[in-house]
Amino acid sequence: MESGGLKDQRFMAARRRLIETIRSRGLDDLSILRLFEEVPRHHFLPPGVQSRAYEDAPLPIGWGQTASQPSLQAQTLQLLDVGPEDRVLEIGTGSGFFTALLARLADRVHSVERIRELSQRARRALDELEIRNVALLVGDGSIGWRKYGPYDRITVAAASPDIPPALLDQLAPSGRMVLPVGSRDLQELVLVEKDEEGEVVRNEAGDPCTFVPLLGRYGWPEE
Ligand code: SAM
Repeated sequence: MESGGLKDQRFMAARRRLIETIRSRGLDDLSILRLFEEVPRHHFLPPGVQSRAYEDAPLPIGWGQTASQPSLQAQTLQLLDVGPEDRVLEIGTGSGFFTALLARLADRVHSVERIRELSQRARRALDELEIRNVALLVGDGSIGWRKYGPYDRITVAAASPDIPPALLDQLAPSGRMVLPVGSRDLQELVLVEKDEEGEVVRNEAGDPCTFVPLLGRYGWPEE
């Protein structure tokens, strides 16, 4: 993995083209678009796919998993509305790229990944970019990470049959959660909002999408 930190200027023209693609899909929040220029996605990807890092596409990262599509990540960030004081829980660290985007917006990010090797690779990539406000855990994220909750924002990067009750429990009052919910093959991004009294409202907020399955206690069973 090459390291140039956040000053890594490789693929700058491709990064700008990606931003234009994301913008053309109706996502125009500048503070979010800027992140896709600032944070080098190629740095989080295996060498064989680094040259494709700025395509608006999911890309393989090993162990049968993918780095999510950038425009879907932009949409998730827009729905999450992360602020500088927020504590964020991410389920499905994967490559660690989205973790890095969250870390640039939030106070602290806690991220859970079930595949140890992916978590270790994400740790190295984050350390090389000197992104320090991230804690990683290897385990079943469908049960959350209770120790540091409740969280102001929760995001899940894998498809769930329903909203995992443990995550709802770990969402703070006035909190927001964004996750893909649906069948194993097709989902929709759902925005869950909890008000100050703890009442929950669920909105289908995005286009149809396909994520890898959330495997675990409140996800899909492992085959
Ligand atoms: N945001 C990541 C990225 O761009 O690299 C997305 C990674 S991928 C779409 C989803 C990740 O969720 C996979 O790495 C997968 O191993 C992980 N995953 C699936 N079920 C999980 C669970 N129960 N707990 C934690 N991670 C899980």
